[in-house]
Amino acid sequence: VEGSEGRESGYWRLSKLAVPASDDPGKDFTGISLPLLQAIAKAIKFPVASMLPDEAFTVIRKSFDARKVLKEPQFTYTVDMDVKKLLDMEPRAWDFVARLEPKPGAVEYMPKEKLASDLVSMLNATNKGYDNELGIRDNHNGSICPQDKKPRVAVIGSGPSGLFASLVLGELGAEVTLLERGQPVEQRGRDIGALAVRRILQSESNFCFGEGGAGTWSDGKLVTRIGRNTDGVQAVMKTFVHFGAPPNILVDGKPHLGTDKLVPLLRNFRHHLRELGVTIRFNARVDDLIVEDGQVKGIAVSDAELQPGSGIQKLSFDAVVLAVGHSARDTYNMLQQHNVDMSPKSFAVGLRIEHPQELINSIQYSELAAEVQKGRGRIPVADYKIVKSVGEKDAEELDIAEQSRSCYSFCMCPGGQVVLTSTDPSELCINGMSFSRRASKWANSALVVTISSHDFKPFQSHGPLAGVEFQREFERRAAVMGGGNFVVPAQRVTDFISNRLSVSTLPPSSYRLGVRPAKLHELFPPYITEALQQSIIMIDREMPGFVSSEALLHGVETRTSSPLQISRHGETYESTSLRGLYPIGEGAGYAGGILSAAVDGMYCGFALAKQLSLFRGDI
Ligand code: FAD
Repeated sequence: VEGSEGRESGYWRLSKLAVPASDDPGKDFTGISLPLLQAIAKAIKFPVASMLPDEAFTVIRKSFDARKVLKEPQFTYTVDMDVKKLLDMEPRAWDFVARLEPKPGAVEYMPKEKLASDLVSMLNATNKGYDNELGIRDNHNGSICPQDKKPRVAVIGSGPSGLFASLVLGELGAEVTLLERGQPVEQRGRDIGALAVRRILQSESNFCFGEGGAGTWSDGKLVTRIGRNTDGVQAVMKTFVHFGAPPNILVDGKPHLGTDKLVPLLRNFRHHLRELGVTIRFNARVDDLIVEDGQVKGIAVSDAELQPGSGIQKLSFDAVVLAVGHSARDTYNMLQQHNVDMSPKSFAVGLRIEHPQELINSIQYSELAAEVQKGRGRIPVADYKIVKSVGEKDAEELDIAEQSRSCYSFCMCPGGQVVLTSTDPSELCINGMSFSRRASKWANSALVVTISSHDFKPFQSHGPLAGVEFQREFERRAAVMGGGNFVVPAQRVTDFISNRLSVSTLPPSSYRLGVRPAKLHELFPPYITEALQQSIIMIDREMPGFVSSEALLHGVETRTSSPLQISRHGETYESTSLRGLYPIGEGAGYAGGILSAAVDGMYCGFALAKQLSLFRGDI
C-alpha cells in the first residue's frame, strides 16, 4: 500500500479500546482476552478477531470506566501491536496494517519501542567502570572532591525522595549515608500498632516519620500529575516492580499498592541499598547543619541509640540532600535559623469525609455495585475524584481571600480507613490509608480548599513558616474539639451543611481512636467552611447520595502538601542560599505524592552525581 513503506516493523499503539465490563476477565487480568482481540480487530479493521495472534499484542494500560454517559461500564485498554510479530504469524494482516492511519490519542505509530528500564538494572549495567551510554566515569576527577576518595553524601530522610536519591548516588559510586529519624518498617509497624491500640504517639516513629516516609502506611496510590508516561515516572514504577511491587502497577490505569505491599518493598529497597554500601541509620534525627563560609560542611545528628551524654554526633559531608517531608517542622525552624531561602507556598486544607463503601459503589456503578459487593474482585471498588470551583465573583471588587477557590477531593481511599497523622500530641490531623485489597467497609477522602499565602496573613510574623503556623492553628483547634486523647471531632455531612451539631449517635467510623460530635463548621474561617459547604452541595448534584446521613466528616486535614518551598537552582538542585544543600521532595515544595517525590529524588541524584563528577551524561 502506498505510503506504508518502512512500517513492516515497529509498533502501533492502539488506545481507547473498549471492552464491556461484563465480557472482560476482570481488573487483575492484563493479558489479551478474546473480547480485547475483538476490540483490536475493530480498530485495525481486521475481519476475524480470533485469527489475530495474542503474542503480537501487549497491554500497556487498562482502566475501568463507569461514567454515566456510557451505555455500560467498560474496561478501556491501550495496547502495543508489534508489527513484525504480527506479520510473521499472520501475514494476511499486512493489508490492514498498511492502511492504518495515525489518529491522535487513538492510533499512533512508534518506529521502535522505547525500552525504559528500571533504575537498578539500568545503573547496574552501566556502573561497571567503563565509559558508556550514561557517561559514567571510572575515576573521580571532578572539582568538588579530591580524586582519590569517594565523595561523601548525607541524605536526610528515607521517604520516596530520599530513597531514590540514595539509590542513584549509591549506584553511581558516592559514599552515601542515609539518616532517618524514625524506625525501620518492622519497628515502625509495632509503634503504629501501639498508637492504634494504646494511644501512644511516638514522636519519631508514626504515620509521618520512619522508613519509607509518609507514604508507607498509606493507600500507596501511584498516580501523579507529572505524567504517567514520562521517563522519570516509568523508571520509578519499574524500580518498584524490581523491589517486589506487583507488575500490574505498570498497566493499571489507577495503580495502587496498599500498606501490605509497601512494607516488603521497602525492606527489599533497604537490603539493596546496604548491599550497595549505603550506610543507613535509623533513629537518627538531623538537628543541625554545620555551615562554613556559606557552604554546608556537615550535619549534627541526634542519635537515640548512642550512649546517653554522647547523643549528638557531628559528621562531615561533601553534600547534604534534604529529603525531610512536610512534617519536619523542627527541621524547617533549623533552616530558618540558617537563613536558608524559603517562601510560603499555597496548599489546601479541609476535612475528611467517610461513606460506607457500598454507598459509593452504588452511586458510581449502579447495577454493577452488586457484583463489587459480592467481592468477586473483577471490578475495582468504586472511587471518585472531584474538583469544584466555588465563589466565582469579580476578583477586582473583592479582597483576594474571597475570590473563587478550588475545592477538590484528595487522597481518596476506597476500602480504606482514616488514620492519625499527627506528629505532636497537642495537634490533631488525619489522612487515609488502605491495604492492597481495599476490602474495608469504608470509603474516605479529604475534601480540601486551596489556600494561598494571602490567607497566612495573621501568621506573617513567622515569615516563611507562616503556612506551618496556619496548619498548626487548625490542628490545635481540632485536638481541642476532639477533647484530647487523639479523639477526632466529627460531624454528619448533613449537619455540616446546615451549621448544626450532630446530636443523634454518629454513624460508625473506621478511625480507630474514636470520634466525637463537634461543630466542624466552626473550625475553619468562614471562607473555608463556606467553600466546603457549597462544593459538597455541588458534588451531591453530580453524585446523588453523596450528602447522606451516613456520611461522616472528620477534622482536620491540613498536610496535603508542603506549606513552603525551599528555593533551589533548577539544574543543579542546590539551594539558592546555601551551597552544598540539596532540598528535594515534598517537604522542599517540589513534589506532592509518592511518585513525584521519588522522581524528584532520582533526578537530584543524577544532578548531584554530575556535580561530584561521578556521572557526565544527560538524564
Ligand atoms: P516523606 O515521605 O515525608 O519522607 C520524609 C522522611 O524524612 C520521613 O521518613 C521522616 O521521618 C524523615 N525526616 C524528617 N526530618 C528528619 C530529620 N531532621 N532527620 C532525619 N530524618 C528526618 N501519596 C501518594 O502518592 N499516594 C498515596 O496514596 C498517599 N497516601 C498517603 C497517606 C498518608 C497517611 C500520608 C501521611 C501521606 C500519603 N501520601 C500519598 C503522600 C506521600 O506519602 C508523600 O507525598 C511522600 O511520602 C513524600 O515523600 P518525601 O520523600 O518528599 O517525604
